Amino acid sequence: MDFGEKDTFRGLNRATQSQRQTGSAIKPLAVLVPGINEKIFTGATIYNDEKTTFEKDYEPKNSDGGYLGEITVRRALESSQNIPFVEMMEQITPKKAISYLEKMGITSLTDEDESLALALGGLQNGVTPLEMASAYATIANDGIYIEPTFYSSIVDSRGRTVMNSEQERRTVFSEQVAYVLKKLLQQPVDGTYGTATYCAIPGIDVAAKTGTTDENYDKWLCGFTPYYTAVAWFGFDQNETIKYNNQNPAGIMWANVMRSIHDGFSGARFYQPSRIVTAEICEDTGEIARTGCTNTYIEYFLSGTEPDECTKHTGSKVNTNIREDDTEENIIYTDDNNDLELNPDDEEVTNPNVQNDNEEISENIENENTQNEAIQNEIDAPPAQNNTVANDTLPENDVVDENEIIDNPVSDGNEEINNTPTGGGQTEETDEEANNTETLESEEQDV
Ligand SMILES: [Zn+2]
Repeated sequence: MDFGEKDTFRGLNRATQSQRQTGSAIKPLAVLVPGINEKIFTGATIYNDEKTTFEKDYEPKNSDGGYLGEITVRRALESSQNIPFVEMMEQITPKKAISYLEKMGITSLTDEDESLALALGGLQNGVTPLEMASAYATIANDGIYIEPTFYSSIVDSRGRTVMNSEQERRTVFSEQVAYVLKKLLQQPVDGTYGTATYCAIPGIDVAAKTGTTDENYDKWLCGFTPYYTAVAWFGFDQNETIKYNNQNPAGIMWANVMRSIHDGFSGARFYQPSRIVTAEICEDTGEIARTGCTNTYIEYFLSGTEPDECTKHTGSKVNTNIREDDTEENIIYTDDNNDLELNPDDEEVTNPNVQNDNEEISENIENENTQNEAIQNEIDAPPAQNNTVANDTLPENDVVDENEIIDNPVSDGNEEINNTPTGGGQTEETDEEANNTETLESEEQDV
């Protein structure tokens, strides 16, 4: 393959230096994280997707110009409806949203960003792909923000450690909140109207969100699996409209790279911690379904935040599966004091060099993108000492074995990433046929 000549030394690093408008890719971070954590809404809360004039005559529109009426938070996320997210931001307040974004490592926000448009990623300066990756990785890492790094240590010729990488770590929200967010973020991938359905990886849970900015200047795909967090941005340094057959080139890049690096990995589900309640919900009211409800789905709640029974339909309560997952093997104690054992030194990262002049790819993906693209794998995400690899042989609830720790997801730049989940004894392979990295099942656009 031909990737062009290297003609610049220490050129613009688009992953770490380009602050870009995020569009809807910020919705999970700016809206869902504070909203779920502060218990302002749940995935089943109903918002009205209709023409609305907010303060200061702010009248955001949906991408297709239409409105869906009363929908759940989950449905609003699925096809990235704008109005409900602005309504949610109104309740959260932009000021509080910014405080969460900053706790998740986003440093480029300004006073100007303290407006409702923050919900839709209309920003003064924008955010770098690296900071977006570190923020998404906070969800993937069960609520713990870990400052990104490109190396773990520097060793001299005699094997003496000259310096270690010291990464700041802090707990931003609980693993229960993280789990609810993960289950919500699967909706754009798994939902009928999802904007990121082409990002699915057979046998592996995928959480993902698209982003598109005005005039199609920027395209994003931010997401993660139980193994890796990755963010892809596509655009021009000087804004130009992206024309790519109505597809999201950042999303295609993300899907191809992520499928490739997960090739051969065991099936994996997001680990469900204790104190999560699942319930069948009436989609019309966002309340617990009764037998008379015709339109229902399963939602995940922080224990105690589940709604009452449907007030619009009749019948007995449908779901008796609402359960507190408190069996012994499922109990994980939360860590709100930020004193989890994170063992930062467990990983050996031998190749800190992930900065090319025009490509920023921190996995060992070799230059799959052109100079206007940057994909930034959040290298520190998967180390996720708290991230666990699923075990298909475990009995129920998609609960994974917490003893299977991903020891070394960060690869030497010249090696194949095929040894990532080193902690587990299980070697069940995913279906090779299912791991077709060539086909993208569908392309839908988040505009
Ligand atoms: Zn109902």
